[in-house]
Amino acid sequence: MATNKPHVVCVPVPFQGHINPMFKLANLLHSRGIYITMVLTEFNVARLASSSSTESHFLEGFNDFSIEVIPDGLPPDNKRSVFNLHEVCYSFQAVQGEPKMAIRSLLMRLLESPDTPPITSVISDSMMNFVPEVCIELGIPLLHFFTTSACGMLGYMQYDELVKRGDFPLKDESYLTNGYLDTSIEWVPGLIKEARMKHLPTFLRTTDPNEIIFNYLAESARNAKVAAGLILNTFDDLESEVLKEIGKVITNIYTIGPLPKLTQQANEQELLPLSGSLWKEDDNCLEWLDKRSPKSVIYVNFGSIAVLTPEQLKEFAWGLANSKHPFLWIIRSDLVIGESNIITEDCYREEIKDRGLISSWCLQEKVLQHPSIAVFLTHCGWNSTLESIGEGVPMICWPFIGEQQMNSLYAGQEWRVGVEMEEGSVQREGVEGLVRDMMEGEKGKELKGKAMEWKKKTDEATKPGGSSYNNFNKLVRNLAGKEN
Ligand code: UDP
Repeated sequence: MATNKPHVVCVPVPFQGHINPMFKLANLLHSRGIYITMVLTEFNVARLASSSSTESHFLEGFNDFSIEVIPDGLPPDNKRSVFNLHEVCYSFQAVQGEPKMAIRSLLMRLLESPDTPPITSVISDSMMNFVPEVCIELGIPLLHFFTTSACGMLGYMQYDELVKRGDFPLKDESYLTNGYLDTSIEWVPGLIKEARMKHLPTFLRTTDPNEIIFNYLAESARNAKVAAGLILNTFDDLESEVLKEIGKVITNIYTIGPLPKLTQQANEQELLPLSGSLWKEDDNCLEWLDKRSPKSVIYVNFGSIAVLTPEQLKEFAWGLANSKHPFLWIIRSDLVIGESNIITEDCYREEIKDRGLISSWCLQEKVLQHPSIAVFLTHCGWNSTLESIGEGVPMICWPFIGEQQMNSLYAGQEWRVGVEMEEGSVQREGVEGLVRDMMEGEKGKELKGKAMEWKKKTDEATKPGGSSYNNFNKLVRNLAGKEN
């Protein structure tokens, strides 16, 4: 039986780093009396249903929170990893494609369904390019959620200007290595002066003007400007200059981050047991961490998409081992390209046996909250970066793809909570040196101090009266039709 609650349909991009913040947002909105329909792809629904023990009834949804399923348009045997980002974009861009048709008929069905309240808004990830057109056609108000950092988003927003200036696509492949990417982009207002071409979204680095991801993301950035509002998982203090710039183009912005912190502030009783992990969570590492001294462990995790070459794996492995500090390293089953992801050398296992734990997908937020964690060696995905900032954990930043390069730059130069590694090649001596600096040197102390300052600011932003807390309330009121 339908209630008369506001009804928000949430459409995340089917990748882990997009699902997590959308789930958090949806859970918080649900706790504030909003009916949620979460739209997921068939492939991810199957993974979510099998990944977490707390979610065995996941598919049935919860009270006033239903799950709807659409195809992602890819063939069943497709691995749906970073290697086929092109195919995902291609499928999502198709005018008469399966995902677009499926969301259209889903929204039409929900508009008429007697079982759910009438749809009041759609919150779509800005990178679901096929959603805006359908919402306009059906007359449903649309809010966008751009799940990257604001500084990362500002990079995406430069696409059209970069093309107009002739800066991208690249003239030829030599531009990848001839120093061109070190060119300053001081002309982009709002970014810090240290920003270079190499900090712009890596998807720009193509020589082909028709390249699918290149064009797809240009459209996502354009789309974000036309929705009735924009939700960002950041907070005003953290990215004030960048937000000022975005605010010149998009007026109705809700900065409500960090969402993990806003979630911690919410009443636990009112939240659903909803985790968005696509991998089965292994919490053995938490017991291992319990046995380590406070602030003694390097936590290493490159998120859900980054991949390593076997050489990079080895260099990171020996760098960590040679530092002689304890470490917890999460190695996804598909982390290493083409080869076994296990360090097979017997001498390595012998070397680390008393101080290194290699484990599989963990509850990262819990790990970062653990008192034993001293430093996070991360690829700087935005969720990981924010989760680290929110827990006061300084970072060693090894960016991989997308806007991670910009996040790493800001972590190093602006927020001063991280040391930046060059993307790409890794050397064990470099890793060992950075770990020692962070664990034993002045640099580590300085960054730790800064990280704790930012943690305090995240607490302030998300507690009652804070900027993100207030903006979230405004969003709820808006969704409930009580305010424009
Ligand atoms: N994550 C996790 N356990 C892991 C690895 C990652 O829970 O072992 C979560 C992490 O907390 C974050 C998300 O997965 O919320 C990864 O998103 P992020 O933006 O950091 O990187 P991406 O995976 O998109 O590259």
